[in-house]
Amino acid sequence: MSGGTSETKLVNFAMANKARRRIINFLANGARDVEEIEGLVGKKTLDFHMKILQDAGLVELEEGTVKISEYGRNFLKNKKERETEEIKDLSQAKPVEIVEIRQVLPCIADSTKLRVAANMVPPLGGTLKILEPLFPRGNYSDRKDSLIVQKGEIMTTIYGSGKIVMRMVKNEEEAKKELESLRNTINEAIKKGVAPPPREKIKVELMDIYNHLPQTNCQECGEQGCYSFTIRLMAGQVSLDMCTQLKKPDYATNLERLQFLATYI
Ligand code: SF4
Repeated sequence: MSGGTSETKLVNFAMANKARRRIINFLANGARDVEEIEGLVGKKTLDFHMKILQDAGLVELEEGTVKISEYGRNFLKNKKERETEEIKDLSQAKPVEIVEIRQVLPCIADSTKLRVAANMVPPLGGTLKILEPLFPRGNYSDRKDSLIVQKGEIMTTIYGSGKIVMRMVKNEEEAKKELESLRNTINEAIKKGVAPPPREKIKVELMDIYNHLPQTNCQECGEQGCYSFTIRLMAGQVSLDMCTQLKKPDYATNLERLQFLATYI
């Protein structure tokens, strides 16, 4: 494993699941028999999880014994060091509220969508930077003291001064729902008193999605085929649950992988 972009995606996908994290923690103290791992996650899902961990290069299976690979050990060591170094204190931050939702105007990029302005009180100032990892597609700019959060088509910019601008929303209702979700995510972290460690930034390409779709072109999702579905998913215009084929047990791994990738779109 080289630690390149596709390897990073595989490892992050593998570690995004609770059962697989349990397996890795269990193996951290030494190799175990397959039966012991089976006792941990159950017989039904053992092969499923083991395959994902092996594909990511995190574990090795030899004659009924499972152990963490050298790559896996290095990954865990680096992760722990990063987390210890970068835990950020939020205990002084106060819960926020969104107020003054105003300026509902057509978007410049797409006049069928709206641009909405609002205010966050109290303003987060320098705390904004450490909130970036809360959002899979969050991007903090030191220069502008702003955090841009992308979710599907919707792009929200939160400024240190408290000003918020949300673009590409369908209507006021959607804007209110998104602002509420933003507030809840921030307040949950403030309640815990610490911000999560910085997340690996993952850039999802069109083919990452397409390659994991069933590619039957059955059109049951209402699209012309899987490729059109991919384009619309990347644009936030359709959701994974609209692909009927992904609900079949044969595509369970694909679905889990797509759900993981979709959080970064
Ligand atoms: S339902 Fe799924 S498999 Fe069928 S065309 Fe749409 S995306 Fe492809």
